[in-house]
Amino acid sequence: GERKPGLLVIGNVTERMMERFKAEFTVHELFRQPDRDAFIAAHAPEIEAVATDGHWGVPPELMAALPNLRIISSFGVGYDAIDAKAAAARGIVVTHTPDVLNDEVANTAIMLWLAVARRLVVMDNWARSGRWEREGAPALTHSVQGRRVGILGLGRIGETIARRAEAFDARVSYHSRAPKDVPWSYAATPVELARGTEVLFVITPGGAETRHLVNADVIEALGPEGILVNVSRGSVVDEAALIDALQRGALGGAGLDVFEKEPHIPDALKAMENVVLTPHIGSATVETRQAMGDLTCDNLSSFFRDGTVLTPVPECRGIARIAAR
Ligand code: NDP
Repeated sequence: GERKPGLLVIGNVTERMMERFKAEFTVHELFRQPDRDAFIAAHAPEIEAVATDGHWGVPPELMAALPNLRIISSFGVGYDAIDAKAAAARGIVVTHTPDVLNDEVANTAIMLWLAVARRLVVMDNWARSGRWEREGAPALTHSVQGRRVGILGLGRIGETIARRAEAFDARVSYHSRAPKDVPWSYAATPVELARGTEVLFVITPGGAETRHLVNADVIEALGPEGILVNVSRGSVVDEAALIDALQRGALGGAGLDVFEKEPHIPDALKAMENVVLTPHIGSATVETRQAMGDLTCDNLSSFFRDGTVLTPVPECRGIARIAAR
């Protein structure tokens, strides 16, 4: 029969994605290989495409070992685990899944904010543990209404968070490297942003450029009543400085979906009642994961159909042909 291009699948994909992959490609699942290095040594030239995700990415040595690689389709919008510049230099197109997850990740961010501010987890425990019956009503919390809200990284998701915050009568300000054409006020630095806000949403990309963008000074500037919500990447926040500030009462609380050494979470964070923790579930609903999976597959299908892709990462826009939609 007709020869199907070789697709290397890294990480776990849904059944729906795997069905499409198998219809269009000769699929090799890296994590099912008993000896991954031996598998690559034997099959490298057959691999023309890689499907991966934001967590696993593509290790540089693996990319280097695939001489006929033409496209990397990543499930997720964040691609800090893929060297997109190195890929573009080799003519390899990297695609990701922007936009289809904006609403979900923004909803997760708002959920964390509300949960921290209103102490949802503590209250749930109060209700179900019998403390209500034994001790009566818990201490009052602070309102989320009419707050000064900061967005660090006003991109697709950041803007979506800002619009949701306005539903709580927030006064929104933001910091990105460049000001945007938006009705919200621009802060020149992360510290300036934190100083002027009570709730700070962190939603920049990860990677070397944003490593510890939220450092001890930013956390200090947010202050003892301030709330930090991180739904970007664990690397963006100095986790040790965050723990230190929370322990000293220099920061009011934190809602964290991402961590520096996932899936490890420091015990100090787990012990704090003013912290709400989620296991990197920003986009993790059935509906949104399906939309992300479909786009991951669509990019591959489109590429092998006519050489175009739907959603290349910025670094690859120069070498990619973008499909008309
Ligand atoms: P965008 O590229 O649309 O937005 C990123 C924003 O960050 C841009 O506005 C950019 O503006 C700003 N930015 C980039 N670098 C810096 C910097 N050094 N300092 C300040 N601002 C910076 O991305 P998305 O909104 O689509 O996604 C953002 C990130 O969210 C993803 O890269 C991913 O890591 C994370 N994410 C997490 C999820 C989760 O499950 N928790 C799910 C989905 C995404 P400018 O260029 O002007 O600086």
